[in-house]
Amino acid sequence: MNDEKVKGRVQSKEERVKNFNEVELGYNDEEALKEANRCLQCPNPRCVQGCPVNIAIPEFIKGIRDGDLKRAYEVISRSSSLPAVCGRVCPQEKQCEKMCIKGFKGDAISIGSLERYVADQAIKNEYSATTNVEKNGKKVAVVGSGPAGLTCAGDLAKNGYEVTIFEVLHKAGGVLTYGIPEFRLPKSIVQKEVDSLKKLGVEIKTDVPVGNAITINELEEEYDAVFIGSGAGLPKFMGIPGEDANGVFSANEILTRINLMGAYKSDSKTPIKKVKRAYIIGGGNVAMDAVRCLKRLGIETHLMYRRSEEELPARKMEVEHAKEEGIIFDLLQTPTKIITNENNDVVGMEVVNMILGEPGQDGRRSVTEDSNSKHNIDCEMVVMALGTSPNHEALKESSIELTERGLIKVEEEKTKTSHDKVFAGGDAVTGAATVILAMEAGKKAAKEIMEKLS
Ligand SMILES: Cc1cc2nc3c(=O)[nH]c(=O)nc-3n(C[C@H](O)[C@H](O)[C@H](O)COP(=O)(O)OP(=O)(O)OC[C@H]3O[C@@H](n4cnc5c(N)ncnc54)[C@H](O)[C@@H]3O)c2cc1C
Repeated sequence: MNDEKVKGRVQSKEERVKNFNEVELGYNDEEALKEANRCLQCPNPRCVQGCPVNIAIPEFIKGIRDGDLKRAYEVISRSSSLPAVCGRVCPQEKQCEKMCIKGFKGDAISIGSLERYVADQAIKNEYSATTNVEKNGKKVAVVGSGPAGLTCAGDLAKNGYEVTIFEVLHKAGGVLTYGIPEFRLPKSIVQKEVDSLKKLGVEIKTDVPVGNAITINELEEEYDAVFIGSGAGLPKFMGIPGEDANGVFSANEILTRINLMGAYKSDSKTPIKKVKRAYIIGGGNVAMDAVRCLKRLGIETHLMYRRSEEELPARKMEVEHAKEEGIIFDLLQTPTKIITNENNDVVGMEVVNMILGEPGQDGRRSVTEDSNSKHNIDCEMVVMALGTSPNHEALKESSIELTERGLIKVEEEKTKTSHDKVFAGGDAVTGAATVILAMEAGKKAAKEIMEKLS
């Protein structure tokens, strides 16, 4: 019997490189039902253990099978406040789907696509998981409106807390808004998730740089508790000569300009110069997002990564999409110098080939430079996508302790910081991670705050 998973529809590669519309089109009713019917409804579901927020996966899939999408949505909403986001961007292949029993002998259930289907139907049909809650008179401040902050705020608001989110940017959503491109996560979806929080009574104050406009100490005085979910938005650079040239960017800057400022639109006030050839340095999801964005601007785009394809840290699906879209992969190479002209504009890079060695303690294969292989290549733009670390501007004038790695220090297995009333979670505590882990931390913090204040 053919038991292959139902493949979702995607925009054709020829079309999608010319636009920023969503690549994955998701399941229609028939496809979702067919995929849901493949689920074995295990009595001891391993998939639930694989989900960081323990969504009752077989139960929501049963909702789809029974044609009761409202119930399916309610089941997901018990554990996740951002289902339309998670259905799209969670690395399910490493979590719930990896644990699916069907995956051992064939195709795992497409849990992510089914979650997305339910969440999209909920948006379309305006289902609401909102309950009318009586306010309990306790006030909580949340710093940052990324998935950690939004989740913490949502859980607290559902339990009667008065929550105010302070966000430095002019739009809420964190990386969901300024980082992940429209073609993977439409901003209208993020906005709908933000709106549903507002319906719960959460107030969102944008354009407020905590640490400057208001300090953590002041928030501690004014509120019963504070949650910090300020993310990890500080980009890393290589430290090679020429990195200060015109035409060298961090991936965060390129993505912010495109996603938040709409630089891809013809009437944009902050357009990106359409150069002939750009190199993106790095091999993670951020590199993949940046390279695919620049391709859509009509630029010849290369991804340069110092290891081989096998070691690329990006999701396999993103690599496949990038390849289909015509991104050129320059593997086992790294730049050693940015070459500039007399105006300090980028005109090329000096590049060296890399040789793969044995795996190190972290399981990743080591790399060494092949010093005889230095060569120059021409390009007018270089984008560094080498990872990010937290920017602790929010902590200015506060004595919140940091770890040796420069992350916000929290008690073991908890979210409480060195200040009694201050909790923290997400990338600011773990370093750059994933949406679902940030959400899990936001949930955990909400629980700890409620325990403390009740
Ligand atoms: C380009 C890109 C693509 C990614 N793709 C994926 C993916 O496909 N799947 C996945 O699971 N993960 C992905 N990630 C990682 C994921 O987005 C992050 O792990 C997650 O967003 C972290 O959530 P957070 O709430 O901790 O922080 P963020 O989402 O970074 O939110 C922090 C918020 O705090 C605000 N802030 C910071 N300082 C202050 C201050 N002083 N005052 C007020 N506000 C402040 C920031 O503006 C921001 O809005 C990606 C990351 C990037 C950059």
